[in-house]
Amino acid sequence: MTTLKSILEIDPSIIRSNIQKLKNKTSNTSNFLAVIKSDAYGHMLNNIVSDIDDLVDGYGVVRLDEAIDLRKISQKKIVLMQGIYSQEDYLLAKKHDLDIVVHNELQLNIIIKNNNFENLWLKVNTGMNRLGFEIDRFLEIYKDYLEDINFTLMTHLAASNKKDDPSNTEQFERFERLYKDLHSGVTKSIANTGCVLNFPDKCFDWVRVGIGIFGGYIGNEELKTAITLKSPIINIKELNIGERVGYDGRAIAEKRMKVATVYLGYADGLPQHIKDGTVVKVNNQDASVFGKISMDVTTIDVSDIKECNVGDWCEFFSPNHSINNLASANGLISYDIMIRIKSRVERVYKKIS
Ligand SMILES: *Cc1c(COP(=O)(O)O)cnc(C)c1O
Repeated sequence: MTTLKSILEIDPSIIRSNIQKLKNKTSNTSNFLAVIKSDAYGHMLNNIVSDIDDLVDGYGVVRLDEAIDLRKISQKKIVLMQGIYSQEDYLLAKKHDLDIVVHNELQLNIIIKNNNFENLWLKVNTGMNRLGFEIDRFLEIYKDYLEDINFTLMTHLAASNKKDDPSNTEQFERFERLYKDLHSGVTKSIANTGCVLNFPDKCFDWVRVGIGIFGGYIGNEELKTAITLKSPIINIKELNIGERVGYDGRAIAEKRMKVATVYLGYADGLPQHIKDGTVVKVNNQDASVFGKISMDVTTIDVSDIKECNVGDWCEFFSPNHSINNLASANGLISYDIMIRIKSRVERVYKKIS
């Protein structure tokens, strides 16, 4: 046991404010599905749900067990976004009143066998080529089973974060051509965060928003990072010109400098290949990674920090220092950083302010 620890602080007030900002971008007729797969992108799903339940129309998750746990704390719509894979799954999904996504023949056969077409989301492939029925096959399924059934037609964009990527137009066109021929009880869903921000007129009936809620969408400064990852400085040392720091001596002092060692490494979930120069904050001033990330510690250049002492916090990201800075500087995505933070980093969940 040690008293020293790194902390991941989660601020639900920021998440609420991000949701409000995102809702303001969608039309009034769009319902808001908060996507909280993978423990709400690492933000403590259970706490988050009680703090945002009044703001959202439902939730999207991927695993059956997370959906069942979620049902214990929310009566809102819960969509099992990758559906069910066995009769046993099907019965559990029904028992807990989950909406089921159907994206392939195996899943469809389970539904047909049970002859219950309620609360389904049919997923079509409009170009991402990962999941979903081809459009011709979907139309056969529609004729055979769905002509009198209310369901949601869904698809997923491959490049919604790149506004000018031609695949977006192609995917929208395929989707729109398809739903024109369907009956009016069919609701539609295509928009993830990137789509809401870049193509707000494509929000349709249900938006499915994940990363934006947590402020991890690169290219939007309005949405704030809701977590602070901070770790104490445990050592400070002076370097002479030419001295090297850390494994393989990657970082070389080109002047006299001061280097601090921070109590957080890749065993805590910090990506190992973070580059020298990546900005972190110490006492609200910029410091930067200097030397390879070790398993348990990280070295940073604090030469320019006024008043820097052992015990001071180093912040890797926070509401005032977006997680997107860390992601962009290192060719990473914020999603991946968020879900990687290990349990030995203590989670501190703030009260709504
Ligand atoms: C994860 C996911 C989303 C949310 O995407 P973001 O980019 O995080 O907004 C939406 N739809 C599906 C099917 C997903 O798996």
